[in-house]
Amino acid sequence: MQILKMGQVGGGIGAFIGEVHRKAARMDGGIQLTAGAFDIDPQKSLEQGKTLGLDSSRVYQSYTEMIEKESALPADERIDFVAVCTPNHTHFPIAKACLEAGFNVMCEKPMTLTVEEALELEQVAKASKKVFGLMHNYTAYPMVKLAKDMVAQGDLGKIRKVVVQYPQGWLYQNLEKTGQMQASWRTNPKTSGAAGCMGDIGTHAANLAEYISGLKITTVLADLTAFVKGRLLDDDGSVLLRFNKGAKGVLHASQISVGEENNLAIWIYGEEKGLHWHQENPNYLHVLDQNAPEQIWKRGNQYVADKSAAAGRCTRIPSGHPEAFLEAFANNYCNFADTIRAKKEKRKPTALELDFPGIEAGVRGMKFIQAVVDSSKNNNVWTSI
Ligand code: NAD
Repeated sequence: MQILKMGQVGGGIGAFIGEVHRKAARMDGGIQLTAGAFDIDPQKSLEQGKTLGLDSSRVYQSYTEMIEKESALPADERIDFVAVCTPNHTHFPIAKACLEAGFNVMCEKPMTLTVEEALELEQVAKASKKVFGLMHNYTAYPMVKLAKDMVAQGDLGKIRKVVVQYPQGWLYQNLEKTGQMQASWRTNPKTSGAAGCMGDIGTHAANLAEYISGLKITTVLADLTAFVKGRLLDDDGSVLLRFNKGAKGVLHASQISVGEENNLAIWIYGEEKGLHWHQENPNYLHVLDQNAPEQIWKRGNQYVADKSAAAGRCTRIPSGHPEAFLEAFANNYCNFADTIRAKKEKRKPTALELDFPGIEAGVRGMKFIQAVVDSSKNNNVWTSI
C-alpha cells in the first residue's frame, strides 16, 4: 500500500476536530501527516508542528504558504492531500486554492458558508479532477452501512417514514460570552453561516437520513429558534421533511437540550419493517418487525459482513470490542485514500472505495441549510431544496 502524505489546515493547539483527523488518518497505516498550517496564528502553527514532531521545513505559517512551498517540491515528496479542519467560513477559500493547485482535499462540514460558494466549489472540484471528500463521519459507521444495504436490498419494503434526531446540550447557556473557542465561531453568522445548530449538526442528521434511506429530501418546513438571549443563530430546530418517492420525515436538532451529549439517532420505517440506530451505542442495529421480536445485529460478526460488504470492509476488531467515532473518521479516510491510490494507479476506483461523502453531499448540505433558514424566516412555509 502506498503511504499518502497528508497536509493539514487547522487543528492547532486546543482545537477539537483537527486532532481527531490526525488520529483517524493514521489508524490504518496508509496515511502520514507530513505538513501543516495548523493555526490562524502563525506562531502557534509552528508550535503545533513542533509538538507533532514534524520536519520544521514542512510546518507553515499559513495555508497559502503551504500550497506554494509544497507545490514547488518534487511530485514524490509533496503532500497528496489537504485536510481542511478550520471553521466554516474558511473552507471555501482553502479548499478552492488546494484543488486549483492540484491537491486532493478532505474537507470538514458544512462544506462552505453559502450555497453560491458550494456550487462554485463543485465546478472547481470537477475541473480539477482531484478527489474531494467531505467529513460526514456518521455515515461511515459499519452499522449505518449495514442499514443502508438493508434498505437497498428491500428488507424494509418501500420507505414511508424517516425520523432523525440530533440533540446536544452544550450551548444551553451563553458559552460564547466566555470566549470559548468552539462556541464563539459557531454562534457568529460571519464564521458559521446562515444557520447555527442546523449547520453544525442538522446537516449531519440530514446526510444520515439520505444516506441510509437512499432517498433525497425535496422540501422542508422548519421552525428554528435562538433560545439563548442575544444569540444571533438558531440553537434549536424542528423540521418536517418530504422525500422523493413519497416518503415523509421529521428532523430535530438542538444544542440547548440540557443534559444531552451527542444523541444522534435515526428510525426508518418501511412498508414491511423498520430499523433504528443510535450513535451513542453504535455497534448495534435494531431491526423492527410488527409480528416478530426485535432483532439486534451486532458489529463484528460474519453475518454483518455477509449482508453488507461495505460494513465488513470498515470493521477492524471482533464483536464485543466497541468501535466508534475515531474509527468512523478512519473509514472515510480509508475509502478516500484508496480512491486517490486508484487514480494514481490509473484504475477505476471500486464502488466500495468510492463509498465516502463528497462534493455532492456538500452541495446538498448547503442547500438544506438555506432551505430550513428560508422556511423558518418566511413563517414556516414548505421550501424546496
Ligand atoms: P476549533 O475552533 O476547535 O478549531 C479550529 C482551528 O482552525 C483552530 O486551531 C484555528 O486556529 C484554526 N484556523 C482557523 N483559521 C485558520 C486558517 N486560516 N489557517 C489555519 N488554521 C486556521 O474548531 P473545530 O470544532 O475543530 O471545527 C472545525 C471544523 O470542523 C468546523 O467546520 C466544524 O463544523 C467541523 N467539525 C466537524 C465535526 C464532525 O463530526 N465531522 C465535529 C466538530 C467539528
